[in-house]
Amino acid sequence: MHTTRSAVCFFLLLALSVAVVAAQAQRDPALTEVWDPVPPKVDPGDASRAPSDAIVLFDGTDLSAWSGRDGAAEWKVEDGAFTIVPGAGGLATRTAFGDVQLHLEWRSPTLLTGEGQDRGNSGVFFMSLYEVQVLDSYASVTYSNGQAGSIYKQHIPAVNVTRAPGEWQSYDIVFIAPRFAPDGQLRQPATMTVLHNGVLIHNHVTLRGPTVFIGEPEYQAHASKLPLTLQEHGNLVSFRNVWIRELQD
Ligand code: MG
Repeated sequence: MHTTRSAVCFFLLLALSVAVVAAQAQRDPALTEVWDPVPPKVDPGDASRAPSDAIVLFDGTDLSAWSGRDGAAEWKVEDGAFTIVPGAGGLATRTAFGDVQLHLEWRSPTLLTGEGQDRGNSGVFFMSLYEVQVLDSYASVTYSNGQAGSIYKQHIPAVNVTRAPGEWQSYDIVFIAPRFAPDGQLRQPATMTVLHNGVLIHNHVTLRGPTVFIGEPEYQAHASKLPLTLQEHGNLVSFRNVWIRELQD
């Protein structure tokens, strides 16, 4: 009897010790430290210089990263920026992209005569298909899902942080391309996160399909990478400091 009680006490103490040791181990901060992989070092750059792992699409000097409707990009390069030439058509990057982070600065012309959609209109088209609107929306009013920063006719920007015509403004955009199954079915829609002048205006919103002017958007299977394009809408919008980072799937 006495021996049995001693054995029970011994095992209870042993179990208690094991539990205490286990509890202490769970409080060890080293258990939740992850040392591998180590993120690659990237020089972040500054207001005028791209991060070191970015692809520079315009560094202020030439449009060699772009092609135009008839071959060479014919928009006007001047004073470290490039400006739309009305009638010359849009520009497309010579490289195709899928998931990306884009930085781009744009400026509405100071001499604005049009109204609504005819006022400093351009656009950034991811994969040549999905537009973030460029427009003068400082004081001019148009439909909300077509104003500056809108994902055209799909998402209204949360706030209007447009600067006055003639002032430079920035877009920082994370675009995740849609995914399609081999049979062409949509597996995962495109998403975007957009900062306008550093202010969040779209937080990981889902796109219903490519941008369309009339009717409802509808996905159709396309390549996993396509050129980024800038829209020519007949207005003298300028751009500068354009860079892009390809994101890993
Ligand atoms: Mg546009």
